[in-house]
Amino acid sequence: SPSARTNYAIANWKMNKTFSEMAVYLQELKSKEGVSVVICPPSQLLYPAGLMAKQQGSTVSIGAQNVHEADKGAYTGEVSASMLKDIGCAYVIIGHSERRQYFNENDQQVNQKIKQAIKEGLTPIICIGETIEQKNSGQTEKVLTTQLVGALQDIDSDFILAYEPVWAIGTGESATAEQAQSTHAYIRKVLTALLGGRAEGISILYGGSVNDKNAAEFSQMPDIDGVLVGGASLNAESFEKIIAVFA
Ligand code: PGA
Repeated sequence: SPSARTNYAIANWKMNKTFSEMAVYLQELKSKEGVSVVICPPSQLLYPAGLMAKQQGSTVSIGAQNVHEADKGAYTGEVSASMLKDIGCAYVIIGHSERRQYFNENDQQVNQKIKQAIKEGLTPIICIGETIEQKNSGQTEKVLTTQLVGALQDIDSDFILAYEPVWAIGTGESATAEQAQSTHAYIRKVLTALLGGRAEGISILYGGSVNDKNAAEFSQMPDIDGVLVGGASLNAESFEKIIAVFA
């Protein structure tokens, strides 16, 4: 958006890319001034991606796609916030709809994960969004409010919010820029009720079938402060075009 808030272009690679594909991608990708770029590779690539970006003098930051809500211990297969911080992560995506849908994450867990991230100095990228059934039955605002209130219980540090309507993720059917703007304005209203004046400074990103063709429309909206990109972020050239739009 043209506001004073920080604009973000965040790449969510999900469960994609090998080590060598990551290396080629980072070599190709040029970051831009005026937009914060975050790459979120799968967890085995977090450390080498951070190292490579640093060696290249890139301003790109690295983020994880998930974090466990406990400090440490007997949680086979899981990764803690302090471990992510230790290997150079600055951000972590929390509450992505795929985590909610396939791994049954609920708002209380999302809240715990946010607290862990903040405790370790990671910036959480908190995802919310309604399903097509919820949208069609007129429950969008209710669902988003519940997710926000649940996620933000006792949180008084900075975070990034991503509005990702579930029906728009990976479907090729993004929300229109106007639809997204009006939902973002609603979200900011709820944030203001919860956090007061601080809400004005919180970047709210749109996600769901963003590509290098439709990104420009979102960037012009007053309450859309960047994008969280899945599919179109896998190609460095496409993602670079999206970055340029928000610079
Ligand atoms: P998409 O995914 O861009 O492929 O729709 C977005 C996301 O899930 O963050």
